[in-house]
Amino acid sequence: MDEAWRAELAELIAIPSVSADPAHREDVKRAGEWVCEFIRRIGGTAELTPFGEKELALGEIPASNGGGNAPTVLVYNHFDVQPPAPLELWESDPFELDIRGEWAYARGVADDKGQLWLVLKAAQRLAEAGALPVNLRFACDGEEEIGGHTIADWVGQDERGADAAVIFDGGMLRRGVPTIELATRGLVGLDVKVRTGERDLHSGMYGGAALNAIHVLMGCLQAVLAGPNGLLPEPLRQGIAAPTAEELEAWSTLPPGAESLSDAGAQPLDPKAAEEFYLRTWAEPSADVNGIVGGKPGIRNTTLSIAASAEFSIRLAPGQDVETIGAAAERLLREAAPAGAELEIKFVGANPGLVRGDAPAVQLALEAFEQTLGVRPLLTRVGGSIPLMPALTEKGIDTVLSGFALPESNVHSPNERFLVEYFAAGIDTVAALFTALGRLS
Ligand SMILES: [Zn+2]
Repeated sequence: MDEAWRAELAELIAIPSVSADPAHREDVKRAGEWVCEFIRRIGGTAELTPFGEKELALGEIPASNGGGNAPTVLVYNHFDVQPPAPLELWESDPFELDIRGEWAYARGVADDKGQLWLVLKAAQRLAEAGALPVNLRFACDGEEEIGGHTIADWVGQDERGADAAVIFDGGMLRRGVPTIELATRGLVGLDVKVRTGERDLHSGMYGGAALNAIHVLMGCLQAVLAGPNGLLPEPLRQGIAAPTAEELEAWSTLPPGAESLSDAGAQPLDPKAAEEFYLRTWAEPSADVNGIVGGKPGIRNTTLSIAASAEFSIRLAPGQDVETIGAAAERLLREAAPAGAELEIKFVGANPGLVRGDAPAVQLALEAFEQTLGVRPLLTRVGGSIPLMPALTEKGIDTVLSGFALPESNVHSPNERFLVEYFAAGIDTVAALFTALGRLS
């Protein structure tokens, strides 16, 4: 790695911006300031800006032609990092960039400071060459690692918008196999409380004649869980956006679902679950009961319980929305309850995010990656929920979500590392991507 590059990245790495630790609050801000200074140094404007209870590094670099009709690209990265603990497992200081062999080691070198830096370097290269064809807007946060929503709130309120967004905070499937992630699942979290009487009863005196709240709850939950075919009841499958042919083609080249399940020590839900692994976890909703409270577990007793409750959650498929599916789940639960049972149901949630595979920004990104790396990225999705994705897609901003971390990058673990050759490759790729996005109209 070029010595000037190494020194520059080492400076950002050395700021222990651990968002989970209040003792590092000022360091998190310092990392945000570092980003702003970088943007100003390469000819942009930037300010660490308070927003809600936190702050964002907001900045811009105008297109080289002055900006007028050029498309606008919103860039997101995060400048906070996970805590480095347990320190004794690190082979070098987590906040000192250490190059050993083909890897660069440090906390945040893959997630996400190394990638933030390479995106900034690509912007610098194009700006200094007078070849930046897009207006870049930067919006970076320092609370990604603690699940903050400041950035999603900001995107929701921002009136200027953008023609596309670029997020480099992910990874390749494996070395040499880049991905562009088109979607994240949403989440509805439900609380269900069942009450079937005034006080617990003697099962010898009332068993067989009185409603038992635990049984009612079991029946209600059964009505929202997957059937024998592994799929949720139809009312909970409304709105699913089917994957495109290119996505399905890409998923068929991924490691077999049976392997993913057995690597996790998991048993398949039903006979087709392994074969349909990616469809199930990326393009279908799923429901999981996360906890049940009722009766007197652990003690032999003969009580007929009149109160029981459960927390369960539904991962929403891309295309679905919290209100529709939350309401449908509530209806199924109520319909499954017998007369005389009282149900109290509450739900909250976060929408899924979805970018269409044929969106111009995605197609330009596929070309830019292919041109630079010689390989077309696979179109994949994320089974989890990232609040920024729906915030962007609800604004109609097509997002290119990708990255250069690898499965063996030890993200969130000791000895986090990034392949040194991917710094240069990453800068080339992001520069090609910004250049290609200049063709957006
Ligand atoms: Zn990250």
